[in-house]
Amino acid sequence: MIIVVSGPGGVGKGTVVRKLVERDPALWLSRSWTTRPRRPGEPADAYVFVDEPTFRRRVAEGGFLEHAEFLGHLYGTPVPDELPAGHDLVLEIDVQGAEQVRARSPEALLVLLVAPSPEEQAARLIGRGDSPDQVERRLAKAGEEIAVARRLGAIEVVNDRLEDTVARLEELIRQARAGGRPGLAP
Ligand code: ADP
Ligand code: 5GP
Repeated sequence: MIIVVSGPGGVGKGTVVRKLVERDPALWLSRSWTTRPRRPGEPADAYVFVDEPTFRRRVAEGGFLEHAEFLGHLYGTPVPDELPAGHDLVLEIDVQGAEQVRARSPEALLVLLVAPSPEEQAARLIGRGDSPDQVERRLAKAGEEIAVARRLGAIEVVNDRLEDTVARLEELIRQARAGGRPGLAP
């Protein structure tokens, strides 16, 4: 199964998926490639950081499950060649990528993570160390990203208290594994 966690910048996607994979050894988190420079303080293994020719070469070789441009940089999910048997693949990607995954794998679980308010989203971006320009660009994009994810039928989860969010996603994953329709009452 593929689990896609998408949503605007700063809502807490990375934080939530890290917790999910820590707690469930059957989840396998894909590491994306990007041409974006590393943020100050960002772990070196947050992405595979590459230059644009290297990224484009991999695109030409068909080496990405999906890829997209986001705020001037390229991001892509490498075709997983090391997914251990019995594991579910977790992708933390933007909504354009979610749309591509949905087209390839209609059964994928799509989650749209949102912040409790735009003010809280801004506070999280600032707290993470994004520049004022980055904060503004990410906030400006949020409305459109939410609209695309809703159109795809993503299940919306408000990331208010982190523990509650992780528990909610665990429940959605449990339902999807059981073959149910996640997000709906049984
Ligand atoms: P994203 O991956 O969506 O861009 P991050 O995971 O980098 O967002 O989170 C942005 C910031 O918000 C980080 O500093 C993170 O620690 C913080 N954060 C994430 N979830 C919560 C939450 N539920 N409550 C408060 N702060 C949070
Ligand atoms: P950031 O620069 O904040 O790390 O990521 C910017 C956006 O790119 C976020 O919405 C993030 O989810 C998305 N992203 C990260 N990796 C990928 C990927 O492999 N593919 C796509 N389509 N988006 C990605």
